Order: sequence, then structure tokens, then C-alpha cells
Amino acid sequence: MECQDYSLTRTMERENLNLNPLQRGGFLPLEARKALYEFSDGYSVCDYCAGRLDEVKKPSVAGFLDDLAQFLNVDAVRTVHGAREGKFAVMHAICQPGDTILVDGNAHYTTHLAAERNQLNLVEVPPSDHPQYQVRPHSYREVLDELHERGEEPSLILLTHVDGDYGNLTDSRAVGKIAEEYGIPLLLNCAYSMGRMPIDAKKLKVDFVVGSGHKSMAASGPIGVLGMKEEWTEKVLQRSSSHPVKELEMLGCTSRGAPLATLMASLPHVIERVGKWNQEVKKTRKFVAQMENIGDITQIGVRPTEHDLVRFETPLFHQIAEKHPRRGFFLYEELKKRNIVGIKRGQTQWFKCSVYGFTSQQVEYIAQSFQEIAKKQGQ
Ligand SMILES: *Cc1c(COP(=O)(O)O)cnc(C)c1O
Repeated sequence: MECQDYSLTRTMERENLNLNPLQRGGFLPLEARKALYEFSDGYSVCDYCAGRLDEVKKPSVAGFLDDLAQFLNVDAVRTVHGAREGKFAVMHAICQPGDTILVDGNAHYTTHLAAERNQLNLVEVPPSDHPQYQVRPHSYREVLDELHERGEEPSLILLTHVDGDYGNLTDSRAVGKIAEEYGIPLLLNCAYSMGRMPIDAKKLKVDFVVGSGHKSMAASGPIGVLGMKEEWTEKVLQRSSSHPVKELEMLGCTSRGAPLATLMASLPHVIERVGKWNQEVKKTRKFVAQMENIGDITQIGVRPTEHDLVRFETPLFHQIAEKHPRRGFFLYEELKKRNIVGIKRGQTQWFKCSVYGFTSQQVEYIAQSFQEIAKKQGQ
């Protein structure tokens, strides 16, 4: 048979400034692009494998995992296929079907799916109202007490460190203290934080951390990170009875080849950029101020923002769209003309964006472009 033309070329990142928060932290540095080429062949990390991916010495997966554990301050760490697979593995290893788990109201859909696939009963901790949508630690205590009165004890607590809707950073240490007090393990979902900002699992008092290589760790992926405290290794890293060298929850081995090679190659870069997190937050806050200065544009979620993902309500652009011949598409099209992408086509009521990793000059250009578009259409 003859295959169709899939046209596998992409100039998006070379030719445009991409504001999609999902993609800002997954951009590969040069070292990772080289590793991607070197390890592009299937099973390429298995040349010197003696049966355990995490123990491979060439390339030094073992050394990399040691460094990663130190970076996150966890006792053990494994790579998985993504943050979702990390959550799934923990739930599968330590919960029983029918168990109740507690999750924050801003949890990612993959948390819900991981729980559903494990046949767990989800109880949500509600966030505060519009416009902050803040997940507050005391709400965890309230829901735990309510459950206790009904005779239900959750077997796991999940907290989204930074959620993907509002970019709200939660007080994980406070939730960690509550979890410790109630004797329930806590999993911190760091898909939007690990690789962008510092994570110290011990300081945050969490039992498990999961991260996403392709979202926030400059890896091509799909790859995730699962870190844990020593006391959980026996359950989560339990060996197979039929193949005693293999870890059961990992199905032997997880993400291998190019996804792993790029994650490894990017670690020094990621360690360095995490050290500059404060500058990223400052840059974002300045951008938010510039956007709000245009008028009738408001950043929602916690203010001032503590993360690069920001959500704006933009009645200004919505009003323009109502009268514009291109209707809701005008914003996307005007931005595209200025080589700015990443805001959904047709969306003008609100949008999410991020200027993570851009130079101040680039952020200036982006803010000015929005200003220009508003002014031009307003006339
Ligand atoms: C993106 C995201 C995920 C999914 O990450 P994967 O690595 O693709 O599984 C999970 N949780 C949150 C909060 C996210 O933002």
C-alpha cells in the first residue's frame, strides 16, 4: 500500500512566539536535541541493559535518577510515561478498588481518570469562588472531618501543586501537615511545577511527587517522574513474582529511548532554570500589569500570580469580536499576523497564556501587540 502524505514538518516554534502554557516548559535545549538524535532508534537505551532500566549504566540512567532524587529531595525516583501514569501507579499500588481518595477541586482530568481506572471513589475539596478559585488547606481538614463522621477514611490525598486552569500555587506544606496529622499519604501533582520551580518533597511533607517531562522539564516525552519516600518503595516498587528482577507497577520498564534521553540531557538546564524561578514570576507579573493596563482585561485566579500560567478574562476582546467581520477569530488572526500563537482560535471571552522562558524584549513585544490590537479595533 501507499501511505498518505503526513507532512511531518513544523515551523511553529521557529517562526512564532507560542503563548500556550502547555508548551512553554517543554521546549528542548540544544543538548536535548542532540540526545534526541543519538537515541532516536527504538530500544536505544537498552544496549547495556542487564534487566532494569533504572540501573542502566551507559547511558547512566542510574546516575541520572540519583541526581533527580537529590534535586527533588525524595528517597526513590523512577521515570514513568507521564504525570498521569505516575498518579495511576501510586493509586494502583496503595489503594484498593472501592477506596475513597481526596482530591482538590482544581485537579486535572487525568487525576479523575486515574482514579476511575483504579475504581476509586473521588471526594473533592472545593476551591474558593470566582475569581480566585483558591484551594485552601483548611478545606482539606473540613472534608476529612466530614468523611470521618461518616466513617470513611480516605486511603490517599491528592493535591495539585499548580493547576492548569488558573495557575494557582497551593500551600502544599500546610496540606502535608494535615495529611501527616490524619495519617494519610499525600501525593503532590507537580506537572506544572517540577522543572519550573524548586520542589523539595521533604520540606513540603509529601509522600509522593509526580512531574511531567514534556510539560515542565524540557523533554520531548512522553515521560513523567515519580518520586517517593522510602517507606513507600516496598509497595510501589514491588517486584514481580514471575520475573523477580522487574518492578510490577512499572510493567518492567517505562518510558525509554528518546523521551528518557532528552529528559536526562535537559536536567542540568532544568536545574539552572529552576534557580531563576523568581525572575519568571516577576516577568509574568509585569506582563499581567501591562495586559490589565489595556483596560477591561483582568487576571483571575490568585493575585498577584505566583506562576507563569495566567488566565485572563477579556471582555474587551469579546466586545470587539461582536462587531468584527471576522467575529471571534479576529484576535487569533491579528496575533498570528504578528507571529504570536498559542491562544485558541475563536476564543475571546477569556484565555490562558504564559510568557515562560521568553526574553524581556519578547514579552515587551507580546504586550505591545495586544495593546496595538485593542487600540486598532477600538477605533
Ligand atoms: C498537564 C497536566 C497533567 C498531565 O501530564 P502528563 O505528563 O501529560 O500526564 C497532569 N496534571 C496537571 C495538573 C497538568 O497540568
